[in-house]
This record gives sequence, structure tokens and C-alpha cells, in this order.
Amino acid sequence: MAEFTMELNDDQKQVRDWIHGFAADVMRPAAAEWDEREETPWPVIQEAAKVGIYSLDFYAQQFFDPTGLGIPMAMEELFWGDAGIALSIVGTGLAAIGVVANGTEEQIGTWIPQMYGTPDDVKVAAFCSSEPDAGSDVGSMRTRAVYDQAKDEWVLNGTKTWATNGGIANVHIVVAVVDPELGTKGHASFIVPPGTPGLSQGQKFKKHGIRASHTAEVVLEDVRIPGNCLLGGKEKLDERLARARERARSGGGERVKNAAMATFEASRPAVGAMAVGTARAAYEVALDYAKTRTQFGRPIIDNQGVAFQLADMRTQIDAARLLVWRASWMAVAGRPFESAEGSMSKLFASEVAQKVTAQAVQILGGNGFTREYPVERMHRDSAIYTIFEGTSEIQRLVIARTISGMPIR
Ligand SMILES: Cc1cc2nc3c(=O)[nH]c(=O)nc-3n(C[C@H](O)[C@H](O)[C@H](O)COP(=O)(O)OP(=O)(O)OC[C@H]3O[C@@H](n4cnc5c(N)ncnc54)[C@H](O)[C@@H]3O)c2cc1C
Repeated sequence: MAEFTMELNDDQKQVRDWIHGFAADVMRPAAAEWDEREETPWPVIQEAAKVGIYSLDFYAQQFFDPTGLGIPMAMEELFWGDAGIALSIVGTGLAAIGVVANGTEEQIGTWIPQMYGTPDDVKVAAFCSSEPDAGSDVGSMRTRAVYDQAKDEWVLNGTKTWATNGGIANVHIVVAVVDPELGTKGHASFIVPPGTPGLSQGQKFKKHGIRASHTAEVVLEDVRIPGNCLLGGKEKLDERLARARERARSGGGERVKNAAMATFEASRPAVGAMAVGTARAAYEVALDYAKTRTQFGRPIIDNQGVAFQLADMRTQIDAARLLVWRASWMAVAGRPFESAEGSMSKLFASEVAQKVTAQAVQILGGNGFTREYPVERMHRDSAIYTIFEGTSEIQRLVIARTISGMPIR
């Protein structure tokens, strides 16, 4: 296992420069248009697929990078390009992580290629956990999965919300309740194959930011899927439920991992890296602007009031990146997050993105407030990072509980 390093190696630098080139040449010029259209930028996803950035191979390579820095480096560059388009490109990855974290080898081999499609016929995937009454409170989930033994099929009913790519995805990964008595321990994840009857898109949301990413409700009405679409398989589920029931009876014992939580644990540092990308993008625009905009006969950066803001912005971005890289390295090195380091990285980086993009708007003055300059969009986009995959309040709860060992509410 690689030692923790703060420097990318030559191969990683090459990949970073390649992604940066795509972000600068393809994503940036398209960003304002797709933000206004509020639609999935299919041509850009296709372009990414053609060059190999939207593919299973690309993510597998970054995911299995032994230094742990592959994914955060890729996320930072893509989200530096544009957050909305980048989420359209990487949204499939959250569903893919759901399969990798909970699925069998066979399920990974069968379904992940169908999530991405091919460069000539690109597809996307969706991970559906949140519900209207179950956002932060995952335990209030109501979507039910009932096993029909006679047909070896699962039947899903319920309404999911806020699903990135929901309804337009080729493959949907749905988290549902199999045993309501067990709370979150009674949840399991299911693959809903393309074209399955009963799955439909509900409301598509009009959003404040990341508007080039599709977010919608997913309605499940008597959705019947084959038995082998239960992620991890029935035997493993039955064993897990038996352990959870035993634990509930005895009031303690072995910790049983929840399916959705396993996905989020793995993806939190990656969300931190996305936030670093947006923050860095806004900081760079502000730095350039401050050096060229003249007021009172001198560039505005000549004023400490402006220069010190830029100094703080850069310091916070670098600190955020270090927390993200540490958590990403710990995850691949198999080091447990004993102080909730994954949550720390996401909490800090997402709040830095909000602060830095707001400061960038301020440094650009009136121009920062218009859509003529990208910091206005970056500021709107940055608001998502403290909300999805666990709000900042929930990250603080996780960290506080982990460091104290107390059931803080
Ligand atoms: C653009 C977008 C894309 C998304 N993509 C996906 C996706 O692909 N798949 C998916 O499953 N979900 C997705 N989500 C859902 C996202 O994860 C949830 O919005 C998030 O978990 C918060 O849930 P909520 O919106 O119901 O807010 P709520 O849980 O209702 O929270 C509202 C406020 O109360 C606070 N709060 C709640 N409980 C506590 C507490 N115990 N202590 C302190 N404060 C608390 C929260 O921090 C927040 O500030 C997406 C959301 C958005 C906006």
C-alpha cells in the first residue's frame, strides 16, 4: 500500500493535465449554455465518452489508484471545468459505487457497462435513496421491496426524490425497506434494469445551481425485478438481516452496515474534491480580475483588503484539498475513519467552496453579479456541496458522535 503523499506522480500529472484540457476546452465553453438550458448536456457527455473520460475503465483506473489520489484529482479538474456538466458526467459514478460497494462480481460485470453505454450510445445511471420524508433521516424511508418467492421476483413500491439522472437513467439503483422492524439495518439496494415497467419520472426540479444536471423524482409502482437484481444476493441479505435481528434482540453485538451508508462513506471525500474544484475555479477568476481591474489608478489587488481575501481563499482551498487527499488515501489504505475523516473533508471543503465563491463575486464587483462572468454560476453551484450526500449539519453530527462516542442529537 502506498505511503501518503502530497505530490502527484508523473503518470497522475499526465492524467490530470489531460482531464484539465478537456475541462478547459470542452466543458468551460459549454457551461453557460447548459446552465441556461437546464438540461443534461448529452453532446458533452458523448464527447467525454469518446475521449475516454466517461467510461468504466477511466473510473476503475482512478478508483484503484493505490495512492488514493486518482478520484479526488479527477473530480477537482472536472468540477473546475463546470459543476453542472461535471455532475452529469460523474453522476453515474454514484450509482456505480452503489453496485461496487454492495454487489457481487457478476452484478458488477453485468450492470456497470449498461450504466455507461458506449461512446456511440451513451447512457447514464441513477442512485435513488432520498425520499420526500426521508432526506437526512434515512431511517424514515418508506419505499418497500417485497419478495415474491413463487416467481423469484422483488416488487418495489414508493417514491424517490432528488435523484440525479432519475427517470432518464438506463439503470436505476434503488434503496428500499425489506424489513421495517429493523430501521436502516432493514434496507437493501436493488438494480432496476432498463425499461422495467412501473418505473417513471415524477417532477423534474428547477434548481438554483448545477442546472446542467438533471434532478427528478422517481416513482415506483409495482416494479417487478428478477431476484438476482438484489445487490449482493438473497443469501447475503438473509444473513445480514438475521444478524441485525439477533443484535436487536440482544441489544448490542456486531455492527451491521447499512447499504446506502456504505455508498455515502465511500463517496464523501469525492464530493469534497468537487467542492475544491469549484472553489479553485472561482479563486482563479478572481485573482486574474483583481490584477487587471483598475480603480483609483491602480489594480484593485494593490489594496490589502482585496489581496488578503485572495490569500485567505487560496489558503482555505489548499487546506480543503489536504483533508480530501488524506481521507481518500485512508479509504484506499484501509485505515478506518476513526475521527470521521471522510465527513471532515466533505464538511470543510463544501463550506470553503461557498465562502470562496461568494468572495469571488465580491471581488468582481458588479461584474461578479452578472452572468457575463462565470463566478455568478460558480457561486450558485457551490450551494449544493453543503446539501447533498449529507448536509453540513449531518457531517457535524457524524464527526461529533465519532470523536465523542456519545449519542449526540
Ligand atoms: C441537486 C441534488 C441532487 C441530489 N442527488 C441525489 C441522488 O442522486 N440520490 C439521492 O438519493 N439523493 C440525492 N439528493 C438528496 C440529498 O442527499 C438530500 O437533499 C440531503 O440528504 C438532505 O435531505 P433533505 O433535502 O430532505 O433535507 P432535510 O433532511 O429535510 O434537512 C433540512 C435541514 O435540516 C437540517 N437537519 C436535519 N436533521 C438534522 C439534525 N438531526 N441535526 C441538525 N440539523 C438537521 C439539515 O441539515 C438541513 O439543513 C440530491 C439533492 C439535491 C439538491
